[in-house]
Amino acid sequence: MQTALETIATLSHEFGADDYVMGGGGNTSCKNEVTLWIKPSGTTLQALAPDRFIAMDRARLAGLYTLAAPPDAAAREALVKSVMEAAVLPATPGRASVEAPVHDSFQARFVVHTHPTLVNGVACSLGGAAFVRRRFPDALWLDYCDPGYTLSLHVREALADYRRRHGDREPQVMWLENHGIFVAGDTADDIRAAYAAVMETLQAFYKHLGLPTAPPPAPPPPAPETAAAAERVLRDTLGAEAAVVVAQGPVACAAGPVSPDHLVYAKSFVYEGLLTADAIQAFAARRGYLPRVFSTPDAIYACGATATTASRAMAFAVNAAWIRQLARACGGVQYLSDAARRFLENWEVESYRAKQS
Ligand SMILES: [Zn+2]
Repeated sequence: MQTALETIATLSHEFGADDYVMGGGGNTSCKNEVTLWIKPSGTTLQALAPDRFIAMDRARLAGLYTLAAPPDAAAREALVKSVMEAAVLPATPGRASVEAPVHDSFQARFVVHTHPTLVNGVACSLGGAAFVRRRFPDALWLDYCDPGYTLSLHVREALADYRRRHGDREPQVMWLENHGIFVAGDTADDIRAAYAAVMETLQAFYKHLGLPTAPPPAPPPPAPETAAAAERVLRDTLGAEAAVVVAQGPVACAAGPVSPDHLVYAKSFVYEGLLTADAIQAFAARRGYLPRVFSTPDAIYACGATATTASRAMAFAVNAAWIRQLARACGGVQYLSDAARRFLENWEVESYRAKQS
């Protein structure tokens, strides 16, 4: 028989596939009464081995829920970070996923959190909450809130409220607006069945509406001379941040950040228009950062100091364009609010993750 850690490693590999997560996104855990084993920050689900999980003392972690948190966001996150670090058991050093307290708040033994594109087509749409209440009445829907400590408190309250209303039963599926999904269960098959129910319903729903349930094929890439000219402008303007430039055919990019991960890897806004140094600098002056993804009439370009940064930025920009299409099923795309965006742009934990992966 598999141990719980072997089971959660197997689930991590299954739900670390492209249909469920991109980049280092998503996280998984298992627990007993006293210990929570959680994915380390900055690793991918598919690379997880049973001995890589970080063991946390659940009693210490629970200190977070009664913390007298300072009102200042930076001070609060620093305090939370220190409580999280103190809860890590010495046998498994490392930085636990920031979503560890969310995992801890479920009573179920296994929790698998992912960001499937088919889920986010709904979760990042104006009519997402209404759709989920109608089509998945047993699921818990959580309105968007800042990740980290704020999210963990909201989830805790929402789960307690759900249990009160459902005879002490907790939800198997929790939808997070503009983010993704948590699935909880006591066995691997409970997790698989809950995911299958969600994914099959969504597949049928989008198919019925003629919306793409697989990544739409990329249009032809730009001509080599067009791409070379674009690369020259990008390198001259961005320097080392455009050490690597990747190109693909044009798609209708999202006009803002659809989720925290999209913001982290592709930055909040895509630059749209012809590539000139002046216009790119004007964008940087208005937005406060140099863009990483550029949408022109002939192509999309993504830049990075490394090949991984550039290709991840491209993958997230293309994925956001797909989510924007899927969101038509539920009233159209809903971007992160300005307040949500600013929180993420300044969040140390996320920049740590972007550096790691
Ligand atoms: Zn997440």
